[in-house]
Amino acid sequence: MQKYINAHCHINTPTDNKTGVVGAIYNSAKMSDWETIKAIAHTNNHAHACIGIHPWHINTATPDWEKQMEPILTQNPKFMVGEIGLDKNYPNMPMQIEFFCRQMEIAKKQNRTAHIHCVGAWDKILHLLGANAPRMVMHAFNGTPEIIKSLARKYDVYFSFSPVILDARRTRIHKSVMVAPENRILIESDDMPMDVLPALAQCIANIRKTPNDKMTEILYNNTMQMLG
Ligand SMILES: [Zn+2]
Repeated sequence: MQKYINAHCHINTPTDNKTGVVGAIYNSAKMSDWETIKAIAHTNNHAHACIGIHPWHINTATPDWEKQMEPILTQNPKFMVGEIGLDKNYPNMPMQIEFFCRQMEIAKKQNRTAHIHCVGAWDKILHLLGANAPRMVMHAFNGTPEIIKSLARKYDVYFSFSPVILDARRTRIHKSVMVAPENRILIESDDMPMDVLPALAQCIANIRKTPNDKMTEILYNNTMQMLG
């Protein structure tokens, strides 16, 4: 049976154990998710945890968020940082930038992968990353092939494609699927049921003209490498 690892989901994402989903990376949206995420990771060794504050939820963070976040990471060496990022459709970009940069600093300091959400803010992200960034996963990647090239040239970065790619009209994203370095592609359900993963692997296999079983194996190995 083919094996899939879900590169990005949340605490409410419907799970699946019939279609070969053998692992999942759970991202926090807000501080109130952190205990649940810890519990998921501690009770299921195929679940991977990310602790962070999503740009949509920065207004829910308490002033001591960093004092709460850092010890969780220190006590759990395999935990990652996420979901963090910038979203032009949500308010208060200066505060979004502050939260993003501070969480990237924590990820760098603790040597953790950062799981990043970026909508309409690639110019800002590219500018903010600077010379040394932690390993990154660009979740639900929606950028252009040019953005892939400029990121892949400089950084240890993975591009995770969401069910959005299943829409045949999204031709720009299909171009990005085509040009992404083969060893840097991941797949994710995001909020959708995890049984969407085989269809995502098939879609990427079609776009890249690679046999489905080979593509599925590549996607699995890429995720293991990212987690490594
Ligand atoms: Zn998410």
